[in-house]
Amino acid sequence: MKKSNRTKSAVKRLILALVFLTMTIIVLSACGNGANQSGQSGKLKITTTTGMIADAVKQVGGEYVEVTGLMGAGIDPHLYKASQGDVKKLDRADIIFYNGLHLEGKMGEIFERLEKSKPVVAISSKLEESQLQSGSAATGGATHDPHIWFNVKLWMTSVEVIRDTLVEKDSANAEHYKANAAAYLVELQKLDVYAKEQIAIIPEKNRILVTAHDAFGYFGKAYGMTVTGLQGMNTMSEYGSKDVSKLRDYLVENEIKAVFIESSVSPKSIESVIEGAKKLGHNVTIGGQLYSDAMGDEGTPDGTYIGMVKHNIDTIVKSLM
Ligand SMILES: [Zn+2]
Repeated sequence: MKKSNRTKSAVKRLILALVFLTMTIIVLSACGNGANQSGQSGKLKITTTTGMIADAVKQVGGEYVEVTGLMGAGIDPHLYKASQGDVKKLDRADIIFYNGLHLEGKMGEIFERLEKSKPVVAISSKLEESQLQSGSAATGGATHDPHIWFNVKLWMTSVEVIRDTLVEKDSANAEHYKANAAAYLVELQKLDVYAKEQIAIIPEKNRILVTAHDAFGYFGKAYGMTVTGLQGMNTMSEYGSKDVSKLRDYLVENEIKAVFIESSVSPKSIESVIEGAKKLGHNVTIGGQLYSDAMGDEGTPDGTYIGMVKHNIDTIVKSLM
């Protein structure tokens, strides 16, 4: 009797174990059905915040990494909050790269939690104090301007941070990462020269860049343009009618021909400035759309970092000549 009871409970335990195993398999395969999961592929899984960072990681990592960028075209990183899906993508990653300098102002807590279990790397971490520009009065607390990608030279140090992190985490493929980074850095060096040459074509008195928020401080300093924004650096800061009339007067006084709207900021604010200038008898046109905090659509030339910077340069030159 006792023996058969023991057998019964052993069978019960076995059945329970089998049920549990089956359920585990079902759950695991349900999680894994979307993309080719790296478990099998052996690729490093990397999650980034902005598209610019995702592009740089793809360039350096090549076929050895699987990159997920959280913020697509037209997304404003200053206001971005991680969704449940994003948290999963961050949890699943082997490495996380983000911009830092408080660009991703609402994601600090998540990064803090995740850095206990994996590398969470700010790609701005190699920059020295002297290379950084300070935040404007309107930044609402940020000490430094986070928009470092618009000085191509500074962005090159970010590519080096990515390279060094990949080399350290996956030393077996170190030579590939080094070679890819070297080739990409040559392209970025060319882009930096292109920017300098093109902006220099614009007559000096016309080298004034007016946009809806101060994303172009580094760009202006690196390539020789005066930059004025309506809203302050951070899209969270409010602008008032005072700012609108101040900028309107500036446009009239400096005979500025064109202002620019941005892909990740509502064009409303800049339009009210243009209206105001018109009432004073000065015609300003919208010079076109610049990419500021996000790249263009994936799969288009503007959906890469180099394409985005070139688009901006060409748009600016065409409108201010
Ligand atoms: Zn911004």
